[in-house]
Amino acid sequence: MIRDWAELDSSDPLRRYRDCFLGADDSSVPAYLDGNSLGRPTKAGVERVTTFMTQSWAGRLIRGWDEQWFDLPLTVGDALAAAALGAGPGQTTIGDSTTVLLYKLARGGVALRPGRTEIVLDRDNFPTDRYLLESIAAELNMSLRWIETDRREGVTPDQLSAVVGDRTALVVLSHVAYRSGFLLDAAEAARITHAAGGVLLLDLSHSVGSVPLELDSWGVDLAVGCTYKYLNGGPGSPAFAYVRAEHLADFAQPIWGWMGRADPFEMEQGYVAAQGIRRVISGTPPVLGMIAMQDTIEMLADVGMAAVRAKSVALGEYALDLIRELLVPLGVEIASPEDSSRRGGHVTIDHPDFERITARLWERGVIPDFRGPNGIRLGLSPLSTSFQEVHAGVSAIRDELLA
Ligand SMILES: *Cc1c(COP(=O)(O)O)cnc(C)c1O
Repeated sequence: MIRDWAELDSSDPLRRYRDCFLGADDSSVPAYLDGNSLGRPTKAGVERVTTFMTQSWAGRLIRGWDEQWFDLPLTVGDALAAAALGAGPGQTTIGDSTTVLLYKLARGGVALRPGRTEIVLDRDNFPTDRYLLESIAAELNMSLRWIETDRREGVTPDQLSAVVGDRTALVVLSHVAYRSGFLLDAAEAARITHAAGGVLLLDLSHSVGSVPLELDSWGVDLAVGCTYKYLNGGPGSPAFAYVRAEHLADFAQPIWGWMGRADPFEMEQGYVAAQGIRRVISGTPPVLGMIAMQDTIEMLADVGMAAVRAKSVALGEYALDLIRELLVPLGVEIASPEDSSRRGGHVTIDHPDFERITARLWERGVIPDFRGPNGIRLGLSPLSTSFQEVHAGVSAIRDELLA
């Protein structure tokens, strides 16, 4: 017996948060199931962006830099670290795209292990992660050690143990796999990487804001993540980077810009890295891009990641119940781990007709996304997705399969 969405929504302790999002009541979009690709905007964000433009920018003009913009990457970074990363202050900054930050951190990570020649990665990681590690290997004449990942699962401790060794400089893994939703055991990955003497860099793009993170206690060395997915920062909002405190004194990233220099305003000759996490910064921080995400960070701090995860798991289990009942009999296959403890915030299903069907779903305002070769990804945002949306989404997929 499938539970009733109305009952699930009315007993959801987080239900009032849905009201905090713009467009959540838009009847032309009965199911937005892509918040893991682009989170909805918050209502508070409209106010915050407007106030920023009318008062801070228009009113303070260039003086705004002195007041707080200069430190914003670090203050927002610390707020994010406390609310969602399980990280103490002084280790997190915001800026650049995920791609660029990942490049900077991966180069910095490799440089922490001079003389070592291998980078470990997996076949099913997000394309940008794979491509830029290929570029770093070419640039530094290093070798890539590929883990062959099962597309419906993720990297297991045994697979990782089998490829790391005394040549391993860096291991780069996604915490939640972008396609399957597989949830890595990050503490175990850190333990295995460190036992081989390597450095672990995690991509948190699909976990931050949906899965509780404990970067400090897990022993993760470096991490990056996206802010326009579960953090609702808006299209192209800047990513965040975490560098574990113990590495900061030696950490060297390759894009030496004036804003990462010790005292940038001296305009001196020669680059000397700033102390602390500021050395990860290269150029002028993307101030406007950091405004909207602050409301979600505040909400996450308010709700607590344990409650966020409980809602995320409930949405995932409900989606899977519906999928088993309504879609599996029509030939749909579940392409995510079914055990919630091994799955992040989204559920992927496969069917040969899904590319065609996704286009039809979008026309009717049912919005998951398609990930080739034949997967529909149902993104379930704990703060904004309702059980009604999950029901509407899976029902619409059934209608289209039967059409
Ligand atoms: C979304 C995502 C990115 C995005 O990178 P951009 O530079 O923002 O385009 C990178 N890695 C992973 C794992 C992602 O899920």
